[in-house]
Amino acid sequence: MIILVINSGSSSLKYQVRDTGSGERLADGTVERIGDSTHGGPADHQEALKRVTADVEVVLRGKTIDAVGHRVVHGGERFSEPVLVDNEITRAIERLSPLAPLHNPANVQGIRAITARWPHMPQVAVFDTAFHRTLPEHAWRYAVPDELYTKFGIRRYGFHGTSIGFVTHHAAALLGMPAAGFTGIVAHLGNGASITAVRSGESIDTSMGFTPLEGLVMGTRSGDIDPSILLFLSREGYSAADLDHLLNREAGLKGLTGHNDMRSAVDSAAAGDERAELALHIASYRLAKYIGGYHVAVGGAQALVFTAGIGENSWQFRERVVNRLGALDLHLDDAENRKKSSAPRQISTEESAFPVLVVPTDEEAAIAEATAAVVAR
Ligand code: ADP
Repeated sequence: MIILVINSGSSSLKYQVRDTGSGERLADGTVERIGDSTHGGPADHQEALKRVTADVEVVLRGKTIDAVGHRVVHGGERFSEPVLVDNEITRAIERLSPLAPLHNPANVQGIRAITARWPHMPQVAVFDTAFHRTLPEHAWRYAVPDELYTKFGIRRYGFHGTSIGFVTHHAAALLGMPAAGFTGIVAHLGNGASITAVRSGESIDTSMGFTPLEGLVMGTRSGDIDPSILLFLSREGYSAADLDHLLNREAGLKGLTGHNDMRSAVDSAAAGDERAELALHIASYRLAKYIGGYHVAVGGAQALVFTAGIGENSWQFRERVVNRLGALDLHLDDAENRKKSSAPRQISTEESAFPVLVVPTDEEAAIAEATAAVVAR
């Protein structure tokens, strides 16, 4: 099937066209500055889609799109699987907007833009939260009064699920087992970073929580901090918007080093920059603690998997993390760890208590496959 994959953000629309038969990527691109027509951007998502279809038609040369798959950030408690979109589903996604104010409204605009252009096109929503719907209640509940959950839906949801599901599947294949046989830890380390405990192929805990802010040190996000810091700062005059900006945009690697990019942190540290060195210590230490915790959570991991921009590419960061895991008896094969490759691979030695793997993620491929599967049903 020919699937158009749409990742619709508030001011940008990323797309890919995939042939799920051959696994080929036929086209990809990004339309930016939506809503900024004074600078040449399209006026809205529908205008943006016109640019996409103009680009795509050239590539397709007469072939037609069979279905559209949308990345949807928040599926709340309702969506545990990809679903065929209709009006009711679209409204349900829209109703989840308070939980993902930057993402779900933009996802809905992407869906409506497709509906307006191709009213009969099958559309499938694929949710970032869905893979984590298997979390047991003791992992998703926060220790706060019930009312916060029943009234506001405050609980751990988890994110990056499409990626973690894809990587779990491919890690299991590399180890020669079905996904349902995989028990291990998957670290998705990109600009946003999270780690997931997988038991028998299912997510049982994950570091992102009510929002994608909790957990690891990220490019511009703080990850875990003492919540009282927010109370302290609000008494000092910081508004909710100030705190949101501070913790989501100015913290993490950026807060510690002035730069949000892992490459520059690694390069600066190698050149003797002490702030960058400290930032890498903090980020790798925090990640290693989570790995130790999730080793316990899954009852003994059988693999540790790195994925996404940093996980796939930064041998230096992987080395820093695994060097902290002596207590788990993990050992990197230095040559394998440093090797540049885009193939799923093992980077630990045979002495390692369990294998350490690098498995490249491909969220668009996962969305295309999920979309084709739903449409075929
Ligand atoms: P996103 O969450 O935006 O999808 P990515 O998965 O693309 O992010 O990851 C972006 C991160 O990956 C950045 O911090 C970037 O520095 C890092 N990265 C990409 N390539 C390399 C590399 N060769 N070495 C170190 N870090 C890298």
